[in-house]
Amino acid sequence: MANESQNSISTSDIVAALRQHGCDPQSDGDGYRAKCPCHDGKSNNSLAISADGKMYCHSCAANTGDVLKAIRLADDRPRQSRKPKVTIDGKPVTLNADEQSVIDGVTWSVFQKLGTEQWPSDRVRRYHDANGQHLATVLLWKFENGDKETRQIRRHEGGWISKGMVSPRPLYHLPDVMAASDIVICEGERSADALHDIGIMVMTPTQGAKSPKKSDWSVLDGKAVTISVYIDNAGREFGKVVFDLIRDIAVDVRVVELKDDWPELPEKGDAADWVEQFADVNSGELRKRFDALPDHREDIDAIVVKEKPRRQIDTSGLPKIELTLNEKRLMIE
Ligand SMILES: [Zn+2]
Repeated sequence: MANESQNSISTSDIVAALRQHGCDPQSDGDGYRAKCPCHDGKSNNSLAISADGKMYCHSCAANTGDVLKAIRLADDRPRQSRKPKVTIDGKPVTLNADEQSVIDGVTWSVFQKLGTEQWPSDRVRRYHDANGQHLATVLLWKFENGDKETRQIRRHEGGWISKGMVSPRPLYHLPDVMAASDIVICEGERSADALHDIGIMVMTPTQGAKSPKKSDWSVLDGKAVTISVYIDNAGREFGKVVFDLIRDIAVDVRVVELKDDWPELPEKGDAADWVEQFADVNSGELRKRFDALPDHREDIDAIVVKEKPRRQIDTSGLPKIELTLNEKRLMIE
């Protein structure tokens, strides 16, 4: 019991606590040396701290547990740091009490990797089920060099975990628009937020065009649906994939392209750019213009979306390796 709690305290926590206690820890090889908090000596290096947080005092023979007690980590810290684990896909995952605890942990890990000072995520998007229960959150960081970092966290029985949403995933903005009979589907949360802001009943699958098949489209049962697509090939293919997913669910499907309203719409431009461009037009007027967009359903329906091949490698010149059944199963998993 005592050992288990000691192990959950990191060496950096110990060093920080020793520093607070005036023990002046200094790095020494892989570990540290410090003044011992368990006896009243003068030496600044009687306490040895190993890289994995084990301690021993060469003067008074205090061990790890004695030192932790003296610096009061043994009683306080383990209870905080020992969060319960749950098993997801066969692996232990920390169960946090609430959304904010996971956000804190994820934020720390994003910046730990980068080695720079951390800041809160630039975008926080929350996903709810039809009853309004908060199920998942998507965090996005944008960096000066144009890089983006996205993380998903989700609710799990009894708390929150740092894991992506499970299929079928809820559509973004689901509870807000459940009652509407006419619903717009667009590509991406940025566009959904922009259209939502001007009063359009809009939803989007998480991760935009990447994986619409993982979303739960059954909520569109009996609704009239307008799919708003970007005018590049990927955007139109997204429209076709969504169209195929909902054609037997929705009662009426239209497909619109905002370039019909704004011919100067940039090729990678989306609904958010359109709303921004016409920020001085009142929302009611913009909604009328959106409703008046011509239908491109037939053009979109004619698109043949090829399943993206899994990376194909030319193996003709390589020796053949036969896989046993277990190896094959491992590769599929
Ligand atoms: Zn000592």
